[in-house]
Amino acid sequence: MKNSSKPKVLVIGAGLAGSEAAMFLARNGVPVILIEGKSLKLNPAQKLTTFAELVCTNSLKSLDTQSAHGLLKSEMKSMGSFIIEKALEHSVPAGDALAVDRELFSSAITQELSSHPLVTVVELEAENPLKLKEQYNCQYVVVATGPLTSKSLENWILNDLSGEDFYFYDAIAPVVDADTLDLSKMYFKDRHKNMDEGGDYLNAPMTKEEYYAFVEELAKAEKVAPKEFEDWKFFESCLPIDLMAERGKDTARFSCMKPVGLEPDINGKWPYAVVQLRKENLLGSAYNLVGFQTRLTYKEQVRVFRMIPGFAEAAFIHLGSCHRNSFLNARKLLEWDLSSKKYPELFFAGQITGVEGYTESASMGLYVALQVLRRIEGKEAIRFPVETAMGALVNYIMTIEKPCPSNINFGLLPSVSLTKDQLKKDRKKIKKELVSQRAQDVFKSFYSELV
Ligand SMILES: Cc1cc2nc3c(=O)[nH]c(=O)nc-3n(C[C@H](O)[C@H](O)[C@H](O)COP(=O)(O)OP(=O)(O)OC[C@H]3O[C@@H](n4cnc5c(N)ncnc54)[C@H](O)[C@@H]3O)c2cc1C
Repeated sequence: MKNSSKPKVLVIGAGLAGSEAAMFLARNGVPVILIEGKSLKLNPAQKLTTFAELVCTNSLKSLDTQSAHGLLKSEMKSMGSFIIEKALEHSVPAGDALAVDRELFSSAITQELSSHPLVTVVELEAENPLKLKEQYNCQYVVVATGPLTSKSLENWILNDLSGEDFYFYDAIAPVVDADTLDLSKMYFKDRHKNMDEGGDYLNAPMTKEEYYAFVEELAKAEKVAPKEFEDWKFFESCLPIDLMAERGKDTARFSCMKPVGLEPDINGKWPYAVVQLRKENLLGSAYNLVGFQTRLTYKEQVRVFRMIPGFAEAAFIHLGSCHRNSFLNARKLLEWDLSSKKYPELFFAGQITGVEGYTESASMGLYVALQVLRRIEGKEAIRFPVETAMGALVNYIMTIEKPCPSNINFGLLPSVSLTKDQLKKDRKKIKKELVSQRAQDVFKSFYSELV
């Protein structure tokens, strides 16, 4: 390793976040010890022994800045993202999406990191990050071991850091775009509160016929089969809605769809069951379907959930899913620079912080590397404006009360108000254009002051 006056940083996990963080630090003159365990034992999702493996699709999603994914990539590019750089070099045609040749992409990343004079790669399964920090004489540690963090490190996190604020399993409910709902079929009210107090929950009441038709479709709809290694075990208090439907036609009606504490609907009828929607953001531009974590395939989710009153034209910002995922309750355990509250020299990056997806995880590697560099340079941690894609993502994991990993989406960014004229046109399109333009402007001025 080349000599540097800067202290060493230990990065654990050479996935998307770890590779991004290691290269950002090395390019900024920081020596890095990069620990990766896959050459000793692959986890069940991995096939390659090289770094930054895309374990499923080869797409890093859209590059178009009119999409939230495109915005995030443009911010990462401005920050000198190594992952985006290599992805562009090894891209394959995929319309406006950034898809890559996964083997060339991964081997280029491995080759460049391994040959960087400030990076030392160590093949090892990490157990105790703080012990390793001492052993390798490093000042800071970045843990970026991803959704399938190995058991030994999981045990350390559980026993030494997180207690029950560490989760191993992720069941995501769908999120719907508020602009696409027919509100004439729904009403706002919180359970057991008076109607005139208003309410945070939007209720889609169902008649008996609507409910049983819905449950029947849920039970017979096509589901995603668990991967061999996932061995789905559900918490009884957090069952997928379709599993409830399989257990019995009234199970959901006694659980998240219970018609209790509500009011007669706008036609004066008491609901037989209800779907409750909770705001995903302060402005209410996106709603989460409460308790609707699901194993249904994406196509089936759209078909079946459009049976919910008010959902005939619903557009989903993201759909539900169930899979193995190790992630922290960032709000409780981490500071805004994603360092541990308990051990300030320990940072977390990537999917383990509670984001979801290749690009989002890589972006959290970049974000944390910047914060570590600032720490090394004696500068304060920096908060990214919530109007930017990266700022919105960090804001999400640091404020969500019940952690639920999320991709980047426009629902995480503050909305904009439209003029009367704009309201008459294609509202959704105009909103996206305005939010996207604002994000780009805010990021540009924020980042130019930073560097
Ligand atoms: C089955 C599956 C399918 C997925 N499909 C998609 C998809 O289609 N699209 C998408 O955007 N995202 C998908 N994801 C999510 C995506 O894989 C993650 O968002 C992303 O890889 C996370 O990046 P990361 O850097 O945080 O973790 P990873 O990329 O997982 O990297 C973590 C690295 O840490 C290493 N490691 C783990 N524990 C230790 C240890 N104790 N010591 C040393 N090294 C260790 C691992 O070997 C790995 O190389 C999927 C995830 C899974 C599990």
